[in-house]
Amino acid sequence: MNVIKPGQTIGILGGGQLGRMMATAAKHMGYRIAVLDPTEDCPTAQVADIHIQGAYDDMEAAEKLGACSDVVTYEFENVDADVSRFFESQGKLPQGSLSLAVSQNREREKGFAEAADIPVPRYRIVTTYEEVKDALAAIGYPAVMKTISGGYDGKGQFLLRDEQDLRDTESGMTEGRYIVERWLNIDKEVSQVFTRDQHGNLSFFPIAENVHKDQVLFTTTVPASLEEEGEEEIRKYTEVLAEELGVVGTFAVEWFVSEGDVYFNEMAPRPHNSGHYTIEACNVSQFEQHIRAITGLPLLTIHSFPAAKMINVLGRHRDPLYQSLDREEVHLHDYGKKEARSHRKMGHVTIIGSSLDDVAKKEPAWMRDW
Ligand code: ADP
Ligand code: MG
Repeated sequence: MNVIKPGQTIGILGGGQLGRMMATAAKHMGYRIAVLDPTEDCPTAQVADIHIQGAYDDMEAAEKLGACSDVVTYEFENVDADVSRFFESQGKLPQGSLSLAVSQNREREKGFAEAADIPVPRYRIVTTYEEVKDALAAIGYPAVMKTISGGYDGKGQFLLRDEQDLRDTESGMTEGRYIVERWLNIDKEVSQVFTRDQHGNLSFFPIAENVHKDQVLFTTTVPASLEEEGEEEIRKYTEVLAEELGVVGTFAVEWFVSEGDVYFNEMAPRPHNSGHYTIEACNVSQFEQHIRAITGLPLLTIHSFPAAKMINVLGRHRDPLYQSLDREEVHLHDYGKKEARSHRKMGHVTIIGSSLDDVAKKEPAWMRDW
């Protein structure tokens, strides 16, 4: 295995906040950063050495990124297959393309978990309205219909509560495959962020508890309020997925706990929003472990503070946050995005505490209107 040393260049596909936080972790260690993204002055370009402005599936731009990078990684899973194969053929993509192919497609992802004997919510794959009707007859209401690929933050999802919702999907369906799955009565949602190095060593961050609003991540809290049994089950299942996929780098798996049982939801082959708390709450962040894995450095043993909470800052929260900065005891992260659309992730804040109660006392007032 080729160790990439400080002074060498890490190429990042995608220039959003995840790329930016990967880049800042890498910059601390002395690496140079090249980023490929279509947007001028995007969050990662602001902290990178080289910005190649181009579309993510632009082969010429990918070749330019490859030419100036010693190793390449990505900040999103929807990497074009030709582009990932190109970097792989150059020996510059230690993460490989299997975990990309599986995690960018909900059908493959659910199938992969099932094949590994990991429980998933009841589901059916559908292509026509007739099949949606059949699926609902088998699964029952409430259910959720999701596009097979391309969805994030609840985009591309339709909740099916009753027959009226079902009829409404008829006109909204476009050609292609969808997944219809049982909408579970959720006790809690948790995620396991971990890193696997190129020798197969695994390092797990504390399991985090996530609260979503309108299917968008609102807060992440550690430690999660899980029974020991649930925690062990999640660790065991996550380890199976990591081995089967041959994961390299930081990776996240989302789990539902419903009526005491654990279900696989989805996975992300990259650092994850629910792992941002690791920047301040752990001695090593999900981003630094990721950089270590892809450059061939050993992973660090993780130590963490007793309690932490991360709160996402959307466009509509940025002004209230900025107006109260002089009063709140929070770690501030702003991604440097120019356009503050109401539902766009603009940054996050993290609170560290000696206990969950201590963290709760420090919660900023603006988060009540989230
Ligand atoms: P994405 O994060 O890619 O938008 P998810 O499948 O994780 O898609 O769905 C987003 C959120 O919607 C989940 O975190 C959860 O809160 C809710 N959700 C999704 N599927 C289900 C389900 N089957 N049962 C209950 N809640 C769900
Ligand atoms: Mg999700």
